[in-house]
Amino acid sequence: MNASEVLKDLKRRFPNEPEYLQAVEEVITTIEDEYNKHPEFDRYNLIERLCLPDRIFSFRISWVDDKGKVQNNMGYRIQHNNAIGPYKGGIRFHSSVNQSILKFLAFEQTFKNSLTTLPMGGGKGGSDFNPKGKSDMEVMRFCQAYIAELWRHIGPDTDVPAGDIGVGGREVGYMYGMYKKMARENTGTFTGKGLEFGGSLVRPEATGYGNVYFLLNMLATRGIDIKGKKVAISGSGNVATYTAKKLLSLGAKVVTMSDSNGTIYVPEGITEEQLEYIFKLKNIYRGRIKEFAEEYYCEYFDGGRPWGVKCDIAMPSATQNELDGDDARTLLANGVIAVSEGANMPSTPEAVHEFLKAKILYAPGKAANAGGVSVSGLEMAQNSQKLTWSAEEVDAKLQNIMKNIHEQCVKYGSEPDGTVNYVKGANVAGFMKVAKAMMAQGII
Ligand code: NDP
Repeated sequence: MNASEVLKDLKRRFPNEPEYLQAVEEVITTIEDEYNKHPEFDRYNLIERLCLPDRIFSFRISWVDDKGKVQNNMGYRIQHNNAIGPYKGGIRFHSSVNQSILKFLAFEQTFKNSLTTLPMGGGKGGSDFNPKGKSDMEVMRFCQAYIAELWRHIGPDTDVPAGDIGVGGREVGYMYGMYKKMARENTGTFTGKGLEFGGSLVRPEATGYGNVYFLLNMLATRGIDIKGKKVAISGSGNVATYTAKKLLSLGAKVVTMSDSNGTIYVPEGITEEQLEYIFKLKNIYRGRIKEFAEEYYCEYFDGGRPWGVKCDIAMPSATQNELDGDDARTLLANGVIAVSEGANMPSTPEAVHEFLKAKILYAPGKAANAGGVSVSGLEMAQNSQKLTWSAEEVDAKLQNIMKNIHEQCVKYGSEPDGTVNYVKGANVAGFMKVAKAMMAQGII
């Protein structure tokens, strides 16, 4: 089957998995030309093998809440592809989690991890557990129940999970603790661990910082300085806050942040003190972004997204499909020059089309947000060596990796008119490495 036929067949087989099909379609349509240059790929039906996950674990998670009531959630782990290294990818706890969303994330992760230059395959996991409003003890009991099932399928050289939406340092700590007890080993089977038990310096910051480093590489191709630029960020979690922190340190102005209830708008730019407030609000008090507007008397768009404000750069850092065609047209009309994705697949296909048509600097998540998993890879390396590297060392490696990913995008995505199609560049570069590794390893 050629690439288009595979896509058609996947649509027939998985009609109820829109996010998975969206991610697959974007990759297949951009790599098709390159794929067709390699008849040997087609002979081994490589594209279909690459689109289908190696295996999926799905299971019931039963746990007891603070009122003594038994709660049941669904848990999953998708082991998508391990051609270039152990399965690697985060765990998401959010009420929207289902198999389609995790399949799209595991598929994307495979290409992203390939781009990092480190030996990591792709995977993703999670649960429809909603951590909002849960006590610390409830979160702990849930994490333990999730791992009581999952632990037998993961390991330092098999499958190494990390955080994602709803899973930060606290949750990784609880999951790793339970894993260690069940597996009776003290190895690097989780990244994003606490610094006291094997975590890497700069891992919490890595996705946000990495996205800014990628953005700087893109801006440099057009000789643009980040200083003074107005940046609209969505989200106020791990990725969003560290993106904001790095931007502030470079003299950019962060004009928006958001959560699933609304957006704050600070036209003159959020200050460092205000960002510190958001860190505490989100990580310690587990409050809502609306409270920021009440504290600092700024504008708040109840239920609204950031994309209507005037900005030079947009960095969507909340969730998938949070920026649609209309949002993209509004951003472009307001003069946006760059969009660099911290979240996974935050722009709908229509929005991506608008950005590519306008030839602005547009970086898809699998390239721009790869800094997180890259430092996870560095955490694995440190755990294997039983050593810890300094923050400066890790940050320098992160900057180098993001530069390298940018170069790969330019290599495969350069257009005759001198612009770079980063979507094509990232997809082709990520694909070629995995494809060659799969070819070399036979039909397994
Ligand atoms: P967090 O849980 O720390 O933060 C998520 C943020 O996004 C919160 O502000 C949350 O608001 C908001 N959000 C979540 N779902 C929705 C929704 N449906 N609509 C609007 N806002 C929403 O997650 P992360 O910062 O870790 O992840 C953010 C994105 O970055 C995800 O797409 C993730 O896959 C991606 N990513 C994360 C990496 C990491 O290292 N953590 C690595 C690479 C990519 P609320 O509190 O209201 O839910």
